[in-house]
Amino acid sequence: MRELKSIHKMGIRLLKMIHREDSSVIPLHLLDVCLSLAQIYAGLFLTAGLIDALLAGAYREAAWQAVVLLGATLLLGLAQRLLQRRFKSLGTRMWLIFYVWLREKVFAMDYESMEKPEVAEKILFSERTSDMYGGLDTLLNHYCNILRAILNILLSVSLVVHLCLTRPAGGLGLVGSLAGPIPSFGLFAVLLVGMCACSFRAFTKFAARQMEIFNSHTGVEEKLTYLLNNVYDNEKVGKIIRIYGMEEMILENTAQEERESRAYFEKRCDVRNAANDANNLVSSVFAVGAYLLAALKVVAGAVTVGAFTRYVGALNQFGSACFSLISEHGELQKICTTMTDFLAFLDMENPHASGSIPVEKRDDGEYELAFENVSFRYPGSEEMVLKNVDFRLRIKGKLAVVGKNGAGKTTFIKLLCRLYEPTEGRITLNGTDIRKYDEEEYRRIFGVVFQDFKLFAFPVWENVAAGYGREDERIWKALEQADAGGLVRNMENGLDTWLYKSVEDGVEISGGEAQKLALARALYKDAPIVILDEPTAALDPKAEAEVYERFGQLVEGRTSIYISHRMSSCRFCDEIIVFQDGQIVERGSHEELFAAGGCYAQMWNAQAKYYA
Ligand code: ADP
Repeated sequence: MRELKSIHKMGIRLLKMIHREDSSVIPLHLLDVCLSLAQIYAGLFLTAGLIDALLAGAYREAAWQAVVLLGATLLLGLAQRLLQRRFKSLGTRMWLIFYVWLREKVFAMDYESMEKPEVAEKILFSERTSDMYGGLDTLLNHYCNILRAILNILLSVSLVVHLCLTRPAGGLGLVGSLAGPIPSFGLFAVLLVGMCACSFRAFTKFAARQMEIFNSHTGVEEKLTYLLNNVYDNEKVGKIIRIYGMEEMILENTAQEERESRAYFEKRCDVRNAANDANNLVSSVFAVGAYLLAALKVVAGAVTVGAFTRYVGALNQFGSACFSLISEHGELQKICTTMTDFLAFLDMENPHASGSIPVEKRDDGEYELAFENVSFRYPGSEEMVLKNVDFRLRIKGKLAVVGKNGAGKTTFIKLLCRLYEPTEGRITLNGTDIRKYDEEEYRRIFGVVFQDFKLFAFPVWENVAAGYGREDERIWKALEQADAGGLVRNMENGLDTWLYKSVEDGVEISGGEAQKLALARALYKDAPIVILDEPTAALDPKAEAEVYERFGQLVEGRTSIYISHRMSSCRFCDEIIVFQDGQIVERGSHEELFAAGGCYAQMWNAQAKYYA
């Protein structure tokens, strides 16, 4: 019973989500349920009237009844067809909505949570299971069928109760007494209770068996999902597969999982067929008993032949509605179970609460940032990669962050941009802990070009303007500043040219050209603090130093930060901090640090041969 409650809690939550997305979907489905029932019962009543009129020789009335029957059937059928037309693309829409919900959740997550491998796994698993077992539209259809079945049962039972209440004509002896209201009720009650008890037993037995089979299968699903989504067409593992000759092994592993999957579906079919057989048997016994009751009423003169057809129709409806209720519920249970992962994913909480203070908009760019004794370890890792970092960023200064690879420079920037939160200590903006600020507003003050800057298979203008609206003049200015004006002018559709061939027939660009567009994106944002985190790693040291200096001139008057493992790139900066093993070990100007003869000077000398 508790399981049933949790299944429907999930189901109703999903229905509410569908309703929030499109408030017309559920009411229209309810209308569809009502129309289909109206069609059935109008048919039953009008046919009964028609038969009675024909038997009584009232041909005018019979003709009238036939016209009404035809009209009602046509009208209700037409209304249903119109509704169905509206549902035509619902399956695709629901499928898309489901995919979008998953991704909206990803956007709402901290960057830190996004990096967790289980997030990607949960998304893939949710998508695959919903593709296999049915998604939101299937869930909605099952609920509609369940509602249709319940209403059908109520309507048919009330008709049969009415049948039981009819009184036979007098003087028929035993038949007359058996057809009286009380014995009829007794007979119907025995049939109903017997059928419900048998159906419920069969339902619980088969549902438990089905769930047992279903739950035993999820491991196979996960393996298949991994193989199909992460292995075959993943270019990163493609290299390894080819070099180490893994093709045969992977195909065999997939075939093995497919065999297990097939065995599972066959088992599922067997249980479903057995459940159908049991239900058919129970409802056949019920139908025979119920027909006998209706026939008894006719023989006893309690109802007409026309009414007999109506009651027999109602009894048929009752049997099939009970059957549908049980089987639809079983299917619904399965869908809700597969949706557990999806809902658990939506419920995943961000590890850190977001603040709400707005960030003061300052035309003078006076944003003062400070690290106060900050230490940091990546989630799931033991080692502190930043240790007791104490640092105040000079407003409108040019700061260089240098150090060997792995010293913690990028981590320092990621913390500054609030992609992660310090494990210890705090970072402040104008004296207030950055956690207290609204995240989006806080990030607006940074324009960053990361080492692994990414462009999208979108038009050029979307890549440059990003989330800050299209203003062509400003886009061209940013492109010119980043030395990419000529590149875009030579493209066939200018700013509207698509990049890459993955979506539209876009243009392919080189790594250096992509880097220029990424620089233009940072310039377009016009943020008061700009950061270059080694986007130039592919360039030689001299070329990198030139790009850095040129960028330094472009953002003159703003606070800027330059990261590099090459000492020469940052010589033009006012202040240099040197990272080593997650700590700031030296700080000062180039001259000061060089004269001090410490870590910086040693690295400078070691790299000097490349600058000549
Ligand atoms: P740098 O920018 O100076 O080359 P990073 O800040 O990228 O150094 O890395 C500092 C340390 O943190 C390295 O040991 C690196 O392996 C580790 N690290 C970087 N990113 C992650 C991550 N996402 N999860 C766990 N460890 C990481």
